[in-house]
Amino acid sequence: MDPVALIVQKYGGTSVADPDRMRAVAENVAFTRRHGNDVVVVPSAMGKTTDNLIKLANDVSKTQPGREMDMLITTGERISMSLLCMALADLGIEAVSFTGSQAGIITDSMHGKAKILEVKGDRVREALAAGKVCVVAGFQGISIEKEITSLGRGGSDTTAVALAASLAADSCEIYTDVTGVFSADPRIVPQARKLARVNFDEMLEMAGAGSRVLALRSVEFARNHNVPVHVRSAFTWEPGTWVTDQERSMEEPIISGVVTDTTESKVTIVAVPDRPGIAAALFEGLAAANVNVDMIVQNTSQDGTTDISFTMPKADMATAESIVGRVAAEIGARGVSHDSDIAKISLVGAGMKTSPGIAAKMFRTLADESVNIEMISTSTIRISVVTAASGLERAARALHTAFGLDSGQAYSAPLPERK
Ligand code: ADP
Ligand code: ASP
Ligand code: MG
Repeated sequence: MDPVALIVQKYGGTSVADPDRMRAVAENVAFTRRHGNDVVVVPSAMGKTTDNLIKLANDVSKTQPGREMDMLITTGERISMSLLCMALADLGIEAVSFTGSQAGIITDSMHGKAKILEVKGDRVREALAAGKVCVVAGFQGISIEKEITSLGRGGSDTTAVALAASLAADSCEIYTDVTGVFSADPRIVPQARKLARVNFDEMLEMAGAGSRVLALRSVEFARNHNVPVHVRSAFTWEPGTWVTDQERSMEEPIISGVVTDTTESKVTIVAVPDRPGIAAALFEGLAAANVNVDMIVQNTSQDGTTDISFTMPKADMATAESIVGRVAAEIGARGVSHDSDIAKISLVGAGMKTSPGIAAKMFRTLADESVNIEMISTSTIRISVVTAASGLERAARALHTAFGLDSGQAYSAPLPERK
């Protein structure tokens, strides 16, 4: 008989959105178990549960202490884990659920976006040794101060890959509502092409550029611990995309994907005095509040003043607003403006390193579509631009075509509505 493999399976919110979906997922877990594998399952909260809990908090309170917010939003995954164990019991599979805390997922104390420091996993190992399927609530852990923490939106991916790394699992399957990682979000670019394989570095750039198909931290874990990740559909169950450490082959296209992101806002501080220390004062304040600033542009100085624009997550706007307002007043800037109607569009591809002219072709393509570029940033294997949100689809599709990525047919698997 083959040696037993240990497989970690993560199911996203749409995949467990209702009782039928929960039972379908239980069937797949049972199928995997009956084929002789040890299985650890990480479910997300059902459907829009996390969004609804956040909305509920907004309806009740303006203050929302981080500790209480995490107590609230981590409940979604607890609902899923217990229901999944019940559905497994119906199928005659012995399963046991654990919260992040019970599974020994130890994090720092940054409520709302805690980082995993260590996965102890003792109870998970014991339960596996006793022949049980383990179901571990995604998106949460316990801090070194023994408080419940959440890992940031999309954090169940990180729970799954971190568990897979700690348990030395053979693979980590990320089940979602598309059939793999594509050359662009198939909801935005129907001609997107499914990638059979992606290497960790490219996936890291795609996730960093804002592709939500895998959470950035989960890719960091996968790369650092060399966990093979298989992104696939919980609706068609067909083989998906393997994210591994494999080298690229020569025949692969220069550009592997177009990434779109609408989760950021642009902030501009107008007429900032042009002298040393101003940028430091501004960005130190934001860093201290744990706001992740992404792109930064400073215009050339006119009459001793300059404008500074930067992008940051919309979700952190409330925190950032007071800091930026205070610093702007302190440094004598004329004012602050916000624009949340923006999109970031990135081209990612390891082949970019050795191919000149990619940026020029990108800008020409956008110009031909009359899409105005507001900001630009680059890395060795990525070019990102910020544009008005209204041009997002047009720009993404045009770039996808211009760089020869179109598959020749529209995405055909079911694309479940995100309830
Ligand atoms: P889950 O709830 O399963 O975690 P997510 O919404 O976090 O699902 O991620 C899956 C979604 O990611 C897909 O429905 C798709 O719209 C989007 N997506 C963005 N970029 C890509 C890409 N390059 N390939 C596949 N899906 C992508
Ligand atoms: N339920 C959490 C969210 O909606 C975590 C996840 O789904 O990965 O962000
Ligand atoms: Mg996700």
